[in-house]
Amino acid sequence: MIRALLTIDDVSSKNTPAIVDYLEEKKIPVIMFAVGEWAQNNPEQLIYALKHGIIVGNHSYSHPHFSELNVEECIQEIDKNEEVLNRFYEQAGVERRFRPFRFPYGDKGGDNKERIQEYLQKKGFDKVDDTRLDYPWWKEKGLNKDIDTLWTFDFAEYNIRKDSGFTLDNVMKRIYNSNPADGAPLLKEGSDHILLLHAHDETEELVPGYYKTFIEELIKNGVTFVNPEFI
Ligand SMILES: [Zn+2]
Repeated sequence: MIRALLTIDDVSSKNTPAIVDYLEEKKIPVIMFAVGEWAQNNPEQLIYALKHGIIVGNHSYSHPHFSELNVEECIQEIDKNEEVLNRFYEQAGVERRFRPFRFPYGDKGGDNKERIQEYLQKKGFDKVDDTRLDYPWWKEKGLNKDIDTLWTFDFAEYNIRKDSGFTLDNVMKRIYNSNPADGAPLLKEGSDHILLLHAHDETEELVPGYYKTFIEELIKNGVTFVNPEFI
């Protein structure tokens, strides 16, 4: 069996409700990570996800590279989005039970990494259960101790852009790559994953239903989508 937790970043977008509907229909659990500014631009779409029981975590207010900010600015990015998300949860009439966090670009803040992790801990962010991830590099990099939610497999579909030369075919190659340069081989029997996908309208425009194509490819290969658990 291959077990995978699906995470979808850069919520909310125009396309977010369609993604929610599809996942609900397929009974695929997910954590979505919202950027405060983008959620404010697409408020109904975020509320739609919340009302459908999706856990929406914090992905910063304006999606900066944290290593280019000082600690105070990093904290502001986190806190400002917390306020936004709290308001949206309230507006949706949904209790906010879990608060996972993901850094934009997976950039943990460079020299300030430790102080930011301490802050995440102090603020009570929830760590996604990663105890089943037995990749040596996960421990070597100390990712097992970090509060934020990184990933083991990145579809990299955000590279599909007009004239980028990166296409659906490149994503498929990543899915089937048994020796990837980054992350872990997705389709290795017995492996566990945290998958990274995005809710970009630009991708939907170029490859309608892109997320369905990838998810169905995974299902075809025996991937089981697991519920988010926290430790
Ligand atoms: Zn992002």
